[in-house]
Amino acid sequence: MGLFNTIRFEEECPSCAAPRIFWFQTKYAASMDYDKDGRFALNDYRLGEKMRWWPKDSPEYDLWLPWGPPRAGITPYEFGVATCQVCGLERFARIEFSELVPKRVSAFAPISMWPRDPDASEFDEPSVLVADYPELAAMVERGEYP
Ligand SMILES: [Zn+2]
Repeated sequence: MGLFNTIRFEEECPSCAAPRIFWFQTKYAASMDYDKDGRFALNDYRLGEKMRWWPKDSPEYDLWLPWGPPRAGITPYEFGVATCQVCGLERFARIEFSELVPKRVSAFAPISMWPRDPDASEFDEPSVLVADYPELAAMVERGEYP
């Protein structure tokens, strides 16, 4: 498994029938590199909390996205599995980012809605993202992402 960070957010868990904390693993801002406060990986963040990374003026800054610098007019997001910390239920989630901040959960659905499911037409957007990022398309092709 590659390096990751954890994003925690609260959503209604359909299994618990109550608001619960879900954990989501992100590959963003994850690196073996470190600064005086520690490694840029295996950190826990909340929605709205800026992830630790290289300073903006460093050459490594734009690498917070694993496949290359953000492009103008495209909101970076990541899709993956979110897990209820009470009952273990897994849900499909998509989180939008702005710079180094996980901003909001823009999809939260049954795991069967995973975008690679050919029936999951509601979540076609990741293919748009892949089209915008040839490097990501190559990673998906090689089975390296997500
Ligand atoms: Zn639950």
